[in-house]
Amino acid sequence: MGIKWLRIELTNACNFNCAYCAEQYMTRKKGFMDMSLAKKIINEISETHISDVLGLQFMGEGLLHPKFDEIASYAKDRGVKLHLTTNAGLLTDKNIDSILDHELKSVYLSLFTPDEHSYSLRGGANKNYEDYERGVKNLIREKFKRKSGIKISIGLLNTQYCFLPGIDAVKNNDKARRLVYSWFSPINEDISITFVEVGTWANQLLVKRGVKVTPNEKGFCPSPFEQLFIAWDGTCTPCCLDYDCNIKVGDANRDSIASIWNNDRYKRIREGMNNNLLIEPYCQTCRGKINLFSFLRRSDIWKLLRMGFSREKLQYICARGWRRFKLI
Ligand code: SF4
Repeated sequence: MGIKWLRIELTNACNFNCAYCAEQYMTRKKGFMDMSLAKKIINEISETHISDVLGLQFMGEGLLHPKFDEIASYAKDRGVKLHLTTNAGLLTDKNIDSILDHELKSVYLSLFTPDEHSYSLRGGANKNYEDYERGVKNLIREKFKRKSGIKISIGLLNTQYCFLPGIDAVKNNDKARRLVYSWFSPINEDISITFVEVGTWANQLLVKRGVKVTPNEKGFCPSPFEQLFIAWDGTCTPCCLDYDCNIKVGDANRDSIASIWNNDRYKRIREGMNNNLLIEPYCQTCRGKINLFSFLRRSDIWKLLRMGFSREKLQYICARGWRRFKLI
């Protein structure tokens, strides 16, 4: 069975400090993937075709890796297609050259905050919004100039239903879509725009903020059937939300990707899910029941009710980090 989402983390360090990211709670040591490990993984994919594409994506910002160009070149030489997810804050001329020269298959730009106001959420202290936007436009302009077939997907953060003060990115999808498309019209099918919402990282961010989450042992999730994420130090997890690699399913320094993918721990997780059982505590919290009232004061609740929110909206707000942003 091939792996649908095989991803490596070139580094868990980041040039941004986004207000909504789990990075602020990550306890893993910061580091960069060794060239030898990156080559080992690329070699195996090249030889076995265990995955159609290798993603450069997990925590951190891959373009920070000092050998990004070398890794992309190595993958191209071995016929391994790459997908890059980037926060778009390091789209320098050199990095744009690396992306296009080495014919990456696709790039996901976590643009998220398409104006000066919302860009302040990113903590991009060393780059102003104008330069940030220019990097995105330059990549797209170069793509057209070089007639590159790279697919570019642009993610925008929809905060329409996120009522946290200060967490304000895109309120009107159509308006935001028109704005971003205006940067590179005419519209081209190689470029798409998607909308994402602020997440809870498998409910871990709620737990960190004092919300009571009752673990749930029943459930199913497709991730262990589709995903293998390899952190910069070789630690493997089956889940894109497992930012601290709690579900350690292997070590890519020691074992092949194929043997990790088919090892006992992976199998037990999948067998459990096939029987509607979540055997990993991390998964049990992810699918746990959120006790909205475990941390709200009575006065908080009245304030929210006066704002006219339904229970679902309350849960939504709660899930998006009530405490951290001091709503009340
Ligand atoms: S924590 Fe477990 S249940 Fe949640 S998304 Fe990850 S693999 Fe799926």
